[in-house]
Amino acid sequence: VLTCRGLRKEFGDHVVLDGLDLTVGEHQVVALIGASGSGKSTLLRCVNLLEDLDDGVIELDGEDISDPRVDPDRVRRRIGMVFQSYNLFPHLSVLENITLAPIRVHRRPRAEAEAQARELLDRMGLGEKAHAYPDRLSGGQQQRVAMARALANSPRLMLLDEVTSALDPELVGEVLSMIRDLKADGMTMVLATHEMGFAREVADQVCFLDGGRVVEAGPPEQVLGDPTHPRTRQFLKRII
Ligand code: ATP
Ligand code: MG
Repeated sequence: VLTCRGLRKEFGDHVVLDGLDLTVGEHQVVALIGASGSGKSTLLRCVNLLEDLDDGVIELDGEDISDPRVDPDRVRRRIGMVFQSYNLFPHLSVLENITLAPIRVHRRPRAEAEAQARELLDRMGLGEKAHAYPDRLSGGQQQRVAMARALANSPRLMLLDEVTSALDPELVGEVLSMIRDLKADGMTMVLATHEMGFAREVADQVCFLDGGRVVEAGPPEQVLGDPTHPRTRQFLKRII
């Protein structure tokens, strides 16, 4: 689904991505781990074309989306992105948050967009909250709405950046179970996380970022349980 080759991204003279390679297969869930500042968010933002690359190629379903001639909006329609801070529109109801892009951007008929939004909300156990405003929802509920909004475009790929780290521990579970459901439905996902337990549980592949590259990648048991690279060992020793 997604192939990144030789990605390079600099901020001033600070090189954040330095020849990074990453491949994500169909229905795969890939967890990005690494120290704060290792470039996990930058990588996700590059894939969603929110950052310009300094070098490298990103392919989505075989199409070179890093080509400057590509229309970013057309690419973002195929990618759902969810952030740590849910970024819901506070002045719009839950239903309006979810249907805004389908109606305004994708020109879908309102009734159809609303029917789909309600189905997503039901699936997430938020059917009752369609007309509530974000400030009346718990953090976990807001994050599930943000997830529903990303899913409303039927994306090929979901990018999740620390989607549980702003949540109280008791609310983390509901978001995790949503991600597990999505995985069961076969959604391809790339997620950045600081929670190794979460990575171990949902990821098919864990990638450890260091020095602007993926220095170690593999199944969670291997990368988290028996890492071969000294930098990975050092990182895991420090956080446990
Ligand atoms: P965290 O685990 O804390 O979320 P991260 O792995 O997601 O960290 P990034 O947010 O990708 O790390 O940041 C990588 C580096 O790039 C950091 O040193 C950061 O300061 C720098 N950086 C990110 N965005 C910008 C920007 N817009 N301008 C300048 N520097 C930036
Ligand atoms: Mg980050």
